Amino acid sequence: EDGYVTHELQPKEDYCPICRDTFTKKTQLMCKHEFCEGCLQQAEKSMGPVCPVCREVFGKIEGNQPEGTMTWETFPQSLPGFPGCGTIEITYCIPDGRQTEKHPNPGQPYYGFMRTACLPDNKEGVEVLHLLKRAFDQKLIFTVGTSRTTGADNQVTWNDIHHKTSRSGGPACFGYPDPDYLSRVKEELKEKGIK
Ligand SMILES: [Zn+2]
Ligand SMILES: [Zn+2]
Repeated sequence: EDGYVTHELQPKEDYCPICRDTFTKKTQLMCKHEFCEGCLQQAEKSMGPVCPVCREVFGKIEGNQPEGTMTWETFPQSLPGFPGCGTIEITYCIPDGRQTEKHPNPGQPYYGFMRTACLPDNKEGVEVLHLLKRAFDQKLIFTVGTSRTTGADNQVTWNDIHHKTSRSGGPACFGYPDPDYLSRVKEELKEKGIK
């Protein structure tokens, strides 16, 4: 067998990939990777509930998005690239508030905002809407930090799950048409365990 070394006392899989020692309270994840219970707890503290070997999410990731609301309405107008269906318009509203220990400057205020985003009102668009709602409930859509557009600190900002904030203008204007957008945003959500 390739890579098999006869003088090894035990096969390689009997070692924890984190501490590289024999297992102490072996724990197996859904992805079948195994760790010492203590090693896995340490890894989870720094990386979140993500397998340290294959990065599969094994728990619910919760972000530090401030309190707010997510609502949506549908309109009959179609988006560029999606003829024959209407538009879902999502409105996110995050009021101003005070930062907690989960944010960069605890005790200082943060400045909220209201943003709208569009999805096509078809089967895949509705699927993405429901995934985004779960991401919102897990506090993953926004965070508090430095605004990428203005450079100002203590702002509510988007957090790596891309949205279409314009109806048109294509990717350069954060709008449609953009044929791969729905599959890309589903990948971004999947990386956070939402699928
Ligand atoms: Zn270990
Ligand atoms: Zn794994």
